[in-house]
Amino acid sequence: MTLFEKIIARQIPADIVYEDDHTIAFRDIHPQAPTHVLVVPRQVIPRLDLATEADVEVLGRCMLAVGIVAKKLGLSGYRVVINNGEEAGQTVFHLHLHILGGRRLTWPPG
Ligand code: 5GP
Repeated sequence: MTLFEKIIARQIPADIVYEDDHTIAFRDIHPQAPTHVLVVPRQVIPRLDLATEADVEVLGRCMLAVGIVAKKLGLSGYRVVINNGEEAGQTVFHLHLHILGGRRLTWPPG
């Protein structure tokens, strides 16, 4: 079971800000911005590059959930990040989208 499956199963506590049939969103335990939320599909896809045609709906649901969460939390400008693979900083191998907001974000991210 991935860490995020344990959160979905309520085996590990999390500050859940949104959930629907396909996704769950909760605050990151080590926030990198005043608002840092992870949007996670209930279905496990270990990393973005392992998604297939069969995952198209769940991928779309994750994107829609980002907008819903941002609106709910009153974010206007925010960044959405997917770390794909260890080299990119991925540490939890259950696909997730980071929503970062509440401060000015620089570009490139470094
Ligand atoms: P990644 O590095 O895989 O893109 O993102 C994983 C994220 O999960 C990190 O930002 C990390 O802080 C967060 N994280 C790790 N363990 C926990 C936890 O137990 N609870 C919550 N809410 N976030 C976690």
